Amino acid sequence: MTTTRFAPSPTGRLHVGNIRTALHNWMLAQEQGDAFLLRIDDTDAARSKEEYVEAIREDLTWLGIGWTREERQSARLDRYEAAFDRLREAGRIYPAYETQQELELKRKVLLGRGLPPIYDRAALSLTEEERAAKDAEGIASHWRFKLDHDEAIAWEDGVRGKAQFDPAQLSDPVIRRADGSWLYMLPSTVDDIEMGVTQVLRGEDHVSNTAVQIQMFSALGAAPPAFAHEALLMGKEGKLSKRLGSLGCDAFRERGIEPEAIVALLARLGTSLPVEPIADRDALLTTFDLSTFGRAPAKFDDAELERVNTAIVHQMAFAAIKDRLPEGMDEAGWHAVRPNVSTVAEVSEWWRLVTGPIEAVEFAPEDKAYLSEAVTTLEWGEDPWGALTSALKVSTGRKGKALFLPLRQALTGMNHGPDMGELLPLIGKEAAKARLQRAAQ
Ligand code: GLU
Repeated sequence: MTTTRFAPSPTGRLHVGNIRTALHNWMLAQEQGDAFLLRIDDTDAARSKEEYVEAIREDLTWLGIGWTREERQSARLDRYEAAFDRLREAGRIYPAYETQQELELKRKVLLGRGLPPIYDRAALSLTEEERAAKDAEGIASHWRFKLDHDEAIAWEDGVRGKAQFDPAQLSDPVIRRADGSWLYMLPSTVDDIEMGVTQVLRGEDHVSNTAVQIQMFSALGAAPPAFAHEALLMGKEGKLSKRLGSLGCDAFRERGIEPEAIVALLARLGTSLPVEPIADRDALLTTFDLSTFGRAPAKFDDAELERVNTAIVHQMAFAAIKDRLPEGMDEAGWHAVRPNVSTVAEVSEWWRLVTGPIEAVEFAPEDKAYLSEAVTTLEWGEDPWGALTSALKVSTGRKGKALFLPLRQALTGMNHGPDMGELLPLIGKEAAKARLQRAAQ
């Protein structure tokens, strides 16, 4: 049984990178009995907003990414407090008093000497008296997790393979601010333990957090989950693009992108499998496998998304789409118009050709005569368009464009559009006759 989680901070809307992480975690947990948790990482009270929590739920729902349970970090502060006490008693947490400026200065000095900017643990060597003096001065401490330099850090990463860190090459992370508020590192570990998370899949920007958290799991007496870090999503140009950071479901929706297109693209992007317009989730799920993920950045290309979207719209069944179609449009209408649209919103432009009114086209005298002949030739049978054009071909000797275009123009007011064989029965006998008559005048 697998338990995964998606843990967004509700400090903004989801962007395409978060959506991808959510989707992959959801996909990992689609076997029977598996769980996919939505964990709202809202320990940052100042920046977390309820409207974003709601937007996250709405976006996931729109994408068809359902969660088995929702958890909120702000409701679990007592759990973090308890873990904090345990770790502190075990000597794995210590107070530190440096200001931001002091820390910045230390960093600069180390970098200036060509050394990695690792925290020097100065606070760890403060005596009881020195600490008491700081406290008496009213300097509140923040808190660091003490990495065990003797405990090697290694894991088998689901995407990156063997991963190894020397703890001495990492700074003891600050886990709690002086005002008592929590940074991400400890709450996330406590949650992953208590919520039974078995697999953590997240972006490779979290790799060094994982190294630290592996020691936290062990300090809290828990076995770590399996970890996998996927390569980051980049713009087509190969850079971490600012635009991608703000590209979310609302923008996609506005452009007429179907959730299934986003899912089909993001399920395969950055893997060795080809991106294909697969609208059937089960089909995507059977091929989903972490071992197909590459280490090179996944490149997000809008044009590719649009291609996938168009192909997915072209496959959509009437039953699945009927509530979004213009009033009165039936299955035959959808089938006639579908090949000509790249988004569902475009359907109404074409459907107008059936319901009218259509644009009037001015014809040359010989075309008017031709259309007038069409009025008398028009018969309503199984295939009125086929019958009309075959008869006119014989009677007028016209062919190709000269045969078809004036008819299309007279019947739809346009030079191009859906297949006339499908469209004419939808326009109907009376309206078709009236349009031809008007054009012939
Ligand atoms: N809230 C964290 C983030 O959005 C979660 C990271 C994680 O998956 O552990 O980066």
